[in-house]
Amino acid sequence: MKGIKIVETAFRDAHQSLLATRMRTRDMLPIAEEMDKIGFFSLEAWGGATFDTCIRYLNEDPWERLRSLEEHVKKTPLQMLLRGQNLVGYKHYPDDIVKNFVEKAYENGVNIFRIFDALNDIRNMQYSIKIAKEQGAHVQGVISYTTSPVHTLENYVEFAKELEALECDSVAIKDMAGLINPHDTYELVKTLKEETDLLINLHCHCTSGMTPMSYYAACQAGVDILDTAISPLAWGTSQPPTESIVAGLQGTPYDTGLDLKLLNEIKKYFEEIRKKYSSLLDPIVERIDTDVLLYQIPGGMLSNLVSQLKEQDAMDRYQDVLEEMPHVRQEMGYPPLVTPTSQIVGIQAVMNVLNGERYKAVTNEVKEYFKGYYGKPPAPVDPEIAKQIIGDEEPISVRPADILEPQYQRYKEEGEKMGIIHQEEDVLTFALYPAVAPKFLKGEAKEEELAPPVENNGCTEPVGIPTEYSVEVDGDLFDVKVMPTGYAIQEVGSVSGPSGPVEGGVESTMQGMILKLKVNAGDKVNEGDVVAVVEAMKMENDIQSPHSGTVEEIFTAEGETVNSGDTLMVIK
Ligand code: MN
Repeated sequence: MKGIKIVETAFRDAHQSLLATRMRTRDMLPIAEEMDKIGFFSLEAWGGATFDTCIRYLNEDPWERLRSLEEHVKKTPLQMLLRGQNLVGYKHYPDDIVKNFVEKAYENGVNIFRIFDALNDIRNMQYSIKIAKEQGAHVQGVISYTTSPVHTLENYVEFAKELEALECDSVAIKDMAGLINPHDTYELVKTLKEETDLLINLHCHCTSGMTPMSYYAACQAGVDILDTAISPLAWGTSQPPTESIVAGLQGTPYDTGLDLKLLNEIKKYFEEIRKKYSSLLDPIVERIDTDVLLYQIPGGMLSNLVSQLKEQDAMDRYQDVLEEMPHVRQEMGYPPLVTPTSQIVGIQAVMNVLNGERYKAVTNEVKEYFKGYYGKPPAPVDPEIAKQIIGDEEPISVRPADILEPQYQRYKEEGEKMGIIHQEEDVLTFALYPAVAPKFLKGEAKEEELAPPVENNGCTEPVGIPTEYSVEVDGDLFDVKVMPTGYAIQEVGSVSGPSGPVEGGVESTMQGMILKLKVNAGDKVNEGDVVAVVEAMKMENDIQSPHSGTVEEIFTAEGETVNSGDTLMVIK
């Protein structure tokens, strides 16, 4: 008899998938001790998008969250999701940052490191695996699962063997979009059990609807660990419900041995949490969406895509963008779609559709991807597209982090000069999020207000209140948009520049945040020079000067949010 072990994801993936990662620490702590009693293999509670959201929206110190959880959870290991060399950010960091981050994460309470790379490029994982092993942590190497002509059973098994050679303790099959079907699950898990000595953990999202079947197939094939979420935070783009999986396996050779009555107490608590956060529950992420089988868009990506299109006022192009995604993915060598490749592919698909010409504009991330800075794509990229994007430049062939200079000391000194380092961990917060962290570390960030609960929460009909109306005034029809005050939507339109086209004006091509201003008033620029960088969906977009001249006036500042079409500056 082999009991299945359960990873409970309520504190990380479940609310990242359903509640825009907004669960507060103060909503976790009251139930943490109860959850500790259940006997989970681990509580996934840190990493992924939680770090970013803590400092960007919640005015919470992610390190403090980890320490508080550690105080309440004495028996059950705390688990984090680490994006390999990307840590909890969206790009590669140099080894000295990786080393300090992993050491501090372990020191503050992480017992299990689940480590992945979006391209399954082992070179982006080996260093963080090594450091985590040196701490004495349980290290779980990840297979980022996707389907494509080049993603075969043999390749996955080879990859798992490489992870085993790096002394990983277990391997997770990370199925971000619920793409794995029961038959393939059975074959993959069974072969991994035969060919390696690793514990096998299956991590799926329910997006396509196949996941509970695949979980059972995994049990039959000898899986050791399954990821689930307590039922109020389950289904849709989240994991299958903990209680259902526990009940379904009771009395079988796979019995988890977990107590359904105790789980029910925890469920009651999370029903209240679900209500409290119901304004964030988008119907799109809650339902089964079989589109994912055609377009491979993971849940988090889908809601991102929708909000991006809404911001650009282009929801009518949603279907076109969905259809563009697989083309972009193919041209980029079939990357699995997970952070950051999901954002990179997604926003490029949006730009290809909205600009009316494919790859007319590309993000910095796409340029870097084609230059090899993210690692080796699973299949060769499309040579024609590569030529269009990077010309004759040869992509790098070394490990991407090898070309990065050490940065820790520089951030430490700069942070200290700014007076924002109050604990050693702050250096890492600053190094990972140099644009967002200073405001938080100075104590100037505010906690985003949570909109009131939605009344009819729990029904399967769309629960959102309409925000766009047509209003008739004296026979004329006006389209208006309303949003609750202080709601999760970022303030837009803070640019005080002129509205409408201006002679010599440089307009923002996207809605987003001004990440960098590369010129000052009085500077001379040439046509095509990058004058500003706008961040949208975590991706950086260069704003180029449409003509040569002198910068006369700048209407925006770093950190400001701008709309597509806003005049950022005048160059004459
Ligand atoms: Mn996940």
